[in-house]
Amino acid sequence: MVITKLYGSMVFDDKTMQEWLPKEIYREMKRCIANDLPLDLDTANVIANAMKEWAVDKGVTHFTHWFQPLTGITAEKHDSFITPAKGGGVLMEFSGKELIKGEPDASSFPSGGLRATFEARGYTAWDPTSPAFIKDGILCIPTAFCSYNGESLDKKTPLLRSMEVLNRECLRVLKLFGRKTERVSAMVGPEQEYFLVDTSVFEKRKDLFFTGRTLYGARPTKGQELNDHYFGAIKPRVVAYMKELDEELWKLGILAKTKHNEVAPGQHELAPIYTTVNVAVDQNQLTMETMKKVAAKHGMTCLLTEKPFEYLNGSGKHNNWSLSTNFGHNLFNPGKSPEDNAQFLLMLAAVIAAVDKHQDLLRISVAHASNDHRLGANEAPPAIISMYLGDELTGILQAIADGRTYSTRAKCDVKIGVHVLPTFAMDSADRNRTSPFAFTGNKFEFRMPGASQTIADVNTVLNTIMAEEFKLFADELEKSKDLSEGIAAIIKRVMQEHGKIIFNGNNYSKDWEHEAERRGLLNLKTTIDALEHLCDEKNVKLFKDMGVFTETELRSRQEIDVERYCKEVCLEATTMLDIATKDIIPATLTYKKDVATCAYNSISAGISADVEIELANKIEALVKTALRSVDNLKSALEDAHKFGFGFECGKHCKNAVIPAMDDLRAICDEMELTVAKSYWPMPNYSDVLFSVH
Ligand code: ADP
Ligand code: MG
Repeated sequence: MVITKLYGSMVFDDKTMQEWLPKEIYREMKRCIANDLPLDLDTANVIANAMKEWAVDKGVTHFTHWFQPLTGITAEKHDSFITPAKGGGVLMEFSGKELIKGEPDASSFPSGGLRATFEARGYTAWDPTSPAFIKDGILCIPTAFCSYNGESLDKKTPLLRSMEVLNRECLRVLKLFGRKTERVSAMVGPEQEYFLVDTSVFEKRKDLFFTGRTLYGARPTKGQELNDHYFGAIKPRVVAYMKELDEELWKLGILAKTKHNEVAPGQHELAPIYTTVNVAVDQNQLTMETMKKVAAKHGMTCLLTEKPFEYLNGSGKHNNWSLSTNFGHNLFNPGKSPEDNAQFLLMLAAVIAAVDKHQDLLRISVAHASNDHRLGANEAPPAIISMYLGDELTGILQAIADGRTYSTRAKCDVKIGVHVLPTFAMDSADRNRTSPFAFTGNKFEFRMPGASQTIADVNTVLNTIMAEEFKLFADELEKSKDLSEGIAAIIKRVMQEHGKIIFNGNNYSKDWEHEAERRGLLNLKTTIDALEHLCDEKNVKLFKDMGVFTETELRSRQEIDVERYCKEVCLEATTMLDIATKDIIPATLTYKKDVATCAYNSISAGISADVEIELANKIEALVKTALRSVDNLKSALEDAHKFGFGFECGKHCKNAVIPAMDDLRAICDEMELTVAKSYWPMPNYSDVLFSVH
């Protein structure tokens, strides 16, 4: 099929709606979406029927409310359109009621105690702002998932709430500039990194199979030291995979745009064209799912975990983020007139203040056991939040704050509302790649999210903290007599109070850690350190004031995320013990036995066996240490289970289980380097990394 026809062929998008819906119904639906109004049942019935007709035409038999529970992935339960017909046989039916609301028995989804006190059942409610689509012959209706009294049990509801409040408060600011803007939305383009390995190799690695990450593995003979994989020629098998992946994504209306090899062997990236944040969140979930599905068809396994391999780059998900008006004007575009510039600088000031005030929340939004192995490692930004603006832009803001002339190549006096900004270099070539939150010309790139994580959380936080700042700015500026002076005062204050968050240097250097500490920036190194702050008074108040989370909802998130951290660490520890005791140690002993036999035979034949004896003794010593490490990890894990899965357990995992895992790994990796390859019970790093030819 030609690509233009293929694109969006599985989406009930605007174009399809115009084709399949009566004009007045289409108009009514658009009106309700624009004004956030509920649809009446008659209209919903017509829409549901049209959706069904369109889907059945494509061979669809079932529908599902597709939602994003607090597991961070997606959930679906399929219902067929089939209804018994009066005179026998069946009809294919789909009602407005079924479209608008579902009642899944969702008692096994994590609710963080939310549902224990209320109704056990939850309900799903249609989110008409994200289009319905067909996946695997199922009509999927994007929905929000709530408890019966309206408490959110998902990742989408808070995101939609945060979009609302961001829109409301940002419009107040834009109104001061005389703008006729009707809507402001965050736009997001997530770059998705991933690894591909051959499934035959993947299946032989229990650690990869059960946890998505290698828990053992000595440094490979060749890693990424030559930088020959990054942007290198793509292998034919991967080319075929990427082609099919693109086509599947295009069918789903996902604008997959860029693909290339990443730094580590076997690592790749896909970037879509940015879109409205809630659609971007849905589409990123679909992208991850499709990546895995298509890989399976090609005999490969797609790894989305943050750090599948030690010694090599991990996989992240750069959240490119900007704010756009309904007229398509990007609020982070400097613009050409003095008014545009003033507005732009105010937008930047809002980001600076928001990011500095809520460093903790941004860090928490990417807190995840497996992302801990990535943040702070060589390729990823450290756990410290800072912001890159570039020297010129920082200079301009600082000059305004100091009330002095800004001088670059040409001297210029920056006075808000009077002058056009000097053109500042925002050359992509000299971009700072080490910053966790970098201004890249007309958008910010938040680089801390892990590859497997939903981007709902980070964007809910970004929307909310920006909304708060816009609210404060609007409150102040609405009272101000002179807009330009009011803005200048805000910029001055923001730079004084929050300028410390700006750092244009190398975030990977050790010096930065000291410098950040001197500046008083937070350094929440692990998931547990971060999650402890989620329900701090400041955060409870912020989310409550902005109407994004109630305190109960926020506490439920904290409980679920801590529990998940504990369970993930414990699963890894259990897997490690299993591999060590059932595979690695027995294999090593077999090797030792053969070496000893060799020694015995040599001696029997009157030949010196010093080498064999030395080797056998070395193995003996290694196994002894390994057995001790196994015992340590076992007892650390038993203690973890005694604590239950709350903070106490989390801290124990961080302080005792993970160090015991590290010890066991170190000794087993040494054994791997000592034991002959043919004895080793699983494919090694080189086998896995170069498994896709
Ligand atoms: P790089 O790897 O150099 O950062 P990519 O082209 O891989 O660049 O990815 C850039 C991402 O940023 C794409 O997903 C793109 O759609 C997105 N993007 C570009 N402009 C904006 C914008 N104004 N708002 C949000 N995302 C944007
Ligand atoms: Mg990037």
